[in-house]
Amino acid sequence: MNMPSEAQVTFFLTGRRAASELEPLDAERLRPAALAAYRDLTRLRHDFPVVLLDDAAAADGAVLASLAALIDAVLAEAPGAGERTRLRAHALKIEREIRTLVANGTAGGLHGLIDTAAARLAPLPDIAFAESVQRLHAGIAQDGPLLDCDAALPRRLLGHVWRSVQRAKGEAFGSEAERLILRLEDVLRADHALSKAGRSAAQLRAAVGSMHAELFDFERMAALLDPVSAETTLPAARRRRVESVLSVLRGQRLFALPDAAVEPYGFEFGDCASALAAFRARLPEMASLARALAIGALEAEGEYNEARHDAIFADFGTDGLGAEELARFPDFFVCLNETALNAPENQALAEMLSSGLPVKVLMQTDDLLEAPLAGSGHLAMGSRGRQFANMTLGLNEVYVLQSASANLVALRRQLERAMRYAGPALFSVYSGASAQAGGLPPYLVAAAAMDSRLFPAFSYDPSAGGDWATRFSLETNPQRERDWPVHRLVYEDAEGQRVVEDVAFTLADFVACDTRHARHFAQVPRAQWNGGLVPLERCLAEAARGLPERLPSLLMVDADDRLQRAIVDDKLVRETRRCREAWHSLQELGGVHNSHADRVRAQHTAAAATGAAPAAQAPGDKTAEMAEVAEAPPAASVDAAPAPAPDEPYIETPRCSSCNECIQINPRMFAYDENQQARIVDAGAGSYRELVEAAENCQVAIIHPGKPKNPKEPALDELLKRAEPFR
Ligand code: SF4
Repeated sequence: MNMPSEAQVTFFLTGRRAASELEPLDAERLRPAALAAYRDLTRLRHDFPVVLLDDAAAADGAVLASLAALIDAVLAEAPGAGERTRLRAHALKIEREIRTLVANGTAGGLHGLIDTAAARLAPLPDIAFAESVQRLHAGIAQDGPLLDCDAALPRRLLGHVWRSVQRAKGEAFGSEAERLILRLEDVLRADHALSKAGRSAAQLRAAVGSMHAELFDFERMAALLDPVSAETTLPAARRRRVESVLSVLRGQRLFALPDAAVEPYGFEFGDCASALAAFRARLPEMASLARALAIGALEAEGEYNEARHDAIFADFGTDGLGAEELARFPDFFVCLNETALNAPENQALAEMLSSGLPVKVLMQTDDLLEAPLAGSGHLAMGSRGRQFANMTLGLNEVYVLQSASANLVALRRQLERAMRYAGPALFSVYSGASAQAGGLPPYLVAAAAMDSRLFPAFSYDPSAGGDWATRFSLETNPQRERDWPVHRLVYEDAEGQRVVEDVAFTLADFVACDTRHARHFAQVPRAQWNGGLVPLERCLAEAARGLPERLPSLLMVDADDRLQRAIVDDKLVRETRRCREAWHSLQELGGVHNSHADRVRAQHTAAAATGAAPAAQAPGDKTAEMAEVAEAPPAASVDAAPAPAPDEPYIETPRCSSCNECIQINPRMFAYDENQQARIVDAGAGSYRELVEAAENCQVAIIHPGKPKNPKEPALDELLKRAEPFR
C-alpha cells in the first residue's frame, strides 16, 4: 500500500484523530529516533560537566574547560603505550564516575571529585589505580567547581567568565592607582622635606634616627635652615590638585582593592532598571576617577600645564564618558530570565544596549515552546530572548551571542571575547531546563533545540572587522550547510534485517519531545504503516494542493528502542517550514548559500554558456568571489553514501564534531574528510582494540567498531563486550 489512509489524511489536514486507526503520541515514552543513542548521558563523553578554572592557574588564560578535555590533556602527555593504555582505562572510568556524581547533584572541586570517584571505584588498595589517580592530580594543575548542564548553568558559567574579566580590569587599575599614589605622595613628601615644618628640630631628629642623634644639635640646625626654608614649595593650586587626586584614588568604590577603606560597589544585577539607575548614579564617580587618573598621570611626570590643562579638565566628563574610558571600569552584569521581561524592563534594556553602556546582559530562556498564540494561526515558537537577540543585531555596535547552554563550552573563546568587548553585549541562552520535555535532561533538550534550528547559535562581534563576513559567525551549529542536521540510524527491521537510515532532525522532532504539543502528532500502529508516510523533510518542499498523496512522518523510538512512526499535522509542518526559512536567513548572514552570490554565479554560468561577458561588478562588491567559493563541490550527499556492511566498522561522519579523539588514537586508521569530519580510511591500519577505544572516546558516540578482523588479537572477548554498546 503506497497511499496514506483516509484517517491519516484527515489527521494531517485537521488534527482530528480517528481513535480506531491512530494513537495519541506519548511524549513521556517516545523520543525522536535521532535521540535514541543518548539515553544515558553519563556514558557519553561530552562537554559536561564543565570545570570553572581558577584563571590565575590556567596556563593559556582559559577560564573554563570540559572535564573530558582536561583528562585528554593528561592522557596526551602519558609516556609509553602500555602505561598510556592503563592510564586511559582508569582515567575514563574516573571521568564517567565524576559525570555520574555531578549529574546526581554532588558538588565540589575537580581534585576533590577525582578522589571521591576513585574511592567509589576502587575501595580496596590497588597500586596501579592509585598511580593513575596521582597522575591525574599531577597532570591537571588547575582546580575549580564542576557544573552540569542545568537551569543554573548559564548564570554561573557566564558569571565566572565575567568575574575573570573584571578581576583583570581591577588588577590593571590597582597597579596604576598604586603607582600614582606613590608618585604623588613623593611629590608631597619632597615639598614637606623642604618646608619650615619639614626642617623643624623634631623633624630633623626623626630623619637622622636615634643611633647618631647625640652627635647633632638639631635646634641649631633648624635655626640655620629656617631662613632658607619656605612654608611650602608647591604652588597652592598644584597642592590642591595633587591632594584632590589622592583623595579620589583612595576613596573610590568602583574597584575592589586590597586594604581599601571603603566597601566597593557591586556590579551584578537581576534587572535592567536597577542596573541603569546604578550606572546613572555612579557615572559622576567614574568621570571623577577617570579625571583623577588623567591629572595624576600628568602631575606624577611634572607635565601638568595649567594654561593648557585647566580648560581641558574643567568640563571633563560632564557629557558622560567615551567608550574607551568606560571600558576601563567594571562592566555591569545583568542576569535576566525572559519570563520576567515587561515593558519597563524592555525599555531599560533597549536603552542600555542602544546607548553603548558598559553592560553585559544574560537573557536566559527556559521554554521555547509556549502555548499557541490566540487567533494568530501560528504556534508561538521561539522566545522573546531570541527575538531580542535578532533585533539587537540591527544596533550594529552590540556584541550579540546566542547559543543553547549545551554549546556554551564550545563557544568559550567567543564568550571571553564578548565579556572583554568595550561596549554592550547581549547573551541569549536557552537552558533546555523545560519542565515539559518528557523527562529528557536539559543538555539533550538544549542540544536538540540547536539541532532543530529553532535556537541556532551565532555570534556577532562588532570589533572583529568592518563587514558581516568577519563579524557574524554560525560556526558551532551542526552541519550548518544543511537545512537540518542528519543523523545515521542503525536498527533491525521486523524481519531482523539490519537497516541503516539517515534521519534529519527537524523542528517537528524537537516539538515531539514536548508533552504540551502531542496533539500535533498521531502515532501510527505498525500494521497501518504504508508507503505514503515519508520523512517530514521530504514533504516540506511540497505545498498541499487537494488531498495529499504523501504524509509527513517522524521516526521515533519507545523506551525499549522499538521503532515507531508518527504523522505530523499540517499546522506543525507549516511551522517547521517557517523555522527553515528563518534558518535560511541566518545562513545568508553567515555566508552560507548566499542568494546574492548564487545570482552572480547564475549570471556567470549563463554568460559562459552564451560566450557573453558577465555583468560588471560594482566596486567593492564581493559577490563574485563569494560565488566562486559557493561553486566548490558540495559535501557528499548522505543519501549517496553506501550503507556499511553489517560487520564493518564505520563512523556516522555527518555527526562528527571534529574533536580529534579518534585521530589521536590512530591517524592511519582515522582521518578527516574535506569537511573536517572523521571517517575510517583504513580499518586494517590498526587493531580492534584501537577501534573500540576510539568508540569509547568519541564524544558523540558515532564510531561503530564492527567485528574484529584478526581472530588472534588478544583479549577479544573483553573487547567485544566493550564494543557491544556501539553496535
Ligand atoms: S568521530 Fe572522531 S573526531 Fe569525530 S567526534 Fe568522534 S572521536 Fe571526535
